[in-house]
Amino acid sequence: MMNCHCNKNKISILSCLDLKAFFFDMDGVLFDSMPHHAEAWTYAFRQMGIDFDEYEAYMREGMTSAGTINEIYRLKLGRKATEEECERIYKIKSDYFETLGETKMIPHVTDILQLVKNAGLDIFVVTGSGQLSLLDTLNDHFPGFFQREKIITAFDVKKGKPDPEPYLMALQKGNLKPDQVVVIENAPLGVQSAVAAGIFTIAVNTGILKDEELINSGANLIYKDMKSLYEELKTVIK
Ligand code: CA
Repeated sequence: MMNCHCNKNKISILSCLDLKAFFFDMDGVLFDSMPHHAEAWTYAFRQMGIDFDEYEAYMREGMTSAGTINEIYRLKLGRKATEEECERIYKIKSDYFETLGETKMIPHVTDILQLVKNAGLDIFVVTGSGQLSLLDTLNDHFPGFFQREKIITAFDVKKGKPDPEPYLMALQKGNLKPDQVVVIENAPLGVQSAVAAGIFTIAVNTGILKDEELINSGANLIYKDMKSLYEELKTVIK
């Protein structure tokens, strides 16, 4: 039960929770991969003669690939994509993504991971991604933070974000209640997914979207970068 001094719009609320774990999204939270994803989606749709831009890619970040492709087909062509079109676009997108070079890590997210780990809290990755080049290198880039059974990916879920399914699955795997967890997200659909799972959600706007997109999605708190989140988090997590 929250005490009256617990303000859900302040980071200090974390000291009022029976905190057991942090759930991290991957793209835009751990890896600075969204510029490459957005460029690859734009390239793939344009190869199919479909007008598409990077803001549209950012707005759909976290959706499954099939979800993104079908929504864009419905929006721009008034119909679902065929299975063949789906596979073709996804292949163009994934192949192109791989040509864009190595993805950097989001600055200072490792400081947050270390803080969470030092506090004895559990760490999960909850992503809609199936990009193997990123999933396979999670442990190379962030050694010592993640265990395979605590990573939920596109291969584990049916619906994907914005459905709460991926976050509910992580709660179940960790035998955790929603009020024992904090989610770190960067995208509107990811925030919606986490909020729908009943979890306190911190948005860090690492991309090109307006802050309002994240606030309107229900984020409890919003930060401009991981450094400013880290500076506040370390005052409440020890
Ligand atoms: Ca993301």
